Amino acid sequence: MGTGVITRFAPSPTGTLHLGGARTALFNWLYARNHNGKFILRIEDTDRERSTQESVDEIIASLKWLGMDWDEGPYFQTERTELYTSKVDKLLAQGDAYRCYCTKEELDKRREEMTAAGQKQMYDRKCRNLTDGDVSRPHVVRLKTPITGSTKFTDTLRGVVETPNSELDDFIIRRSDGGVMYNFVVVIDDAEMGVTHVIRGDDHIANTPKQVNLYRALGYAPPSFTHVSMILGPDKKRLSKRHGAESVIEYRTTGYLPDAMINILARMGWGYGDQELFKRDELIKLFSLENLTLSPAVFDKEKLLWLNMQHIKGTPDDVLAAMLLPLVAERHPNAKESDLATLIPLLKERSKTLVEMAQGTDFYFLNNPKPDDSAKKFLGEKNRPALDGVVQLISATPDLGHENLNAQFKELAAKLSIPMKDVAQPVRAALTGRTVSPGVFEMIAILGRDESVRRLNAAIANIKA
Ligand code: GLU
Repeated sequence: MGTGVITRFAPSPTGTLHLGGARTALFNWLYARNHNGKFILRIEDTDRERSTQESVDEIIASLKWLGMDWDEGPYFQTERTELYTSKVDKLLAQGDAYRCYCTKEELDKRREEMTAAGQKQMYDRKCRNLTDGDVSRPHVVRLKTPITGSTKFTDTLRGVVETPNSELDDFIIRRSDGGVMYNFVVVIDDAEMGVTHVIRGDDHIANTPKQVNLYRALGYAPPSFTHVSMILGPDKKRLSKRHGAESVIEYRTTGYLPDAMINILARMGWGYGDQELFKRDELIKLFSLENLTLSPAVFDKEKLLWLNMQHIKGTPDDVLAAMLLPLVAERHPNAKESDLATLIPLLKERSKTLVEMAQGTDFYFLNNPKPDDSAKKFLGEKNRPALDGVVQLISATPDLGHENLNAQFKELAAKLSIPMKDVAQPVRAALTGRTVSPGVFEMIAILGRDESVRRLNAAIANIKA
């Protein structure tokens, strides 16, 4: 049975799920699966103004697409208010938290004074020792952070991280409108859900000492913390739109396989020797926190494209067909999976994306292809002898196999004293209306003699006209 490892992905549904978020989810998922443990999905929607259902839906759709299944959840923090209230009450009762009645205006004014006096801006703990506690007045609740000493935690990658308590203030755990704060509820949820390993972005390092103080005050044992470095673009700047799509789900639309996505995400900040290509099962088997890297990871779009091509090659035809069909059906509504069974072997060795593969099926479905501008250049009077010759040879030969067609095309080219490509390109243009397509011989074999001859003759008739 399981080893007791419990991890979680805890996104705030305030926008799109970008590569960094998906990678955090992946590391948690891989760690849980590697240890035969449990992976929890928790939606951190306490910021009601910025959280949207659309974002929740996108996060869930992205995780499903990437094949990261969760064992528990999705939990929603907005549905756990009672639990949080009971913990606020507990901290107040035991004297580890207090009500603060300072108004925004007062705080602003004192902050200005602190700045003027060259002091660090933090809450001056004015209400820390109040005993009145008139709860009908508007107030926030703050945690009593130790004033002397330091707060420590061990980060898997960084070792002991120590923060002097003089740098930590009595931060707010519940706002005056009753809303609870991230640092507070994340601790309650992680502890109550039994999370053993927190793996998240290094933008949360500064939050961790605050959370450690909450673990202590609430009587919980802290989990193991791992903060992973951020993802940069090739220009070493923070990853953003100019480096490619930001939301993971967009990569589905543009024809990437979930396994290729997982592969590239894993390779950003984790490694296993020089190996680049990993199957999903391999990642699960090999993943470890020790092999995470501390230096920032770089997103390389070219590498993703290469990985996608490798994963397409390595995916069984029927699995590819299921993923490809919706993309083909967008272009050719009558397409069926049985059509794809014929086409996939032709396309899978040469396509970088599923979109490219879908484009590659056009020749099969478009009976009367209209040549595009570049194809037109190969369908002029000077190309007629080649096209005529190919019509004759296809009509005459009993064998439409690659080897035979190749030999016959060569012979024709020699007879016409033109290079082979001056035979093949006009034929490609006539059969598909394009200048880029699967192999000419393979297309002829799939279309069959009659259909190939019909399309070639139509192109010839067009030239004559
Ligand atoms: N909701 C937080 C975020 O999306 C979670 C941080 C954490 O993993 O603790 O950044």
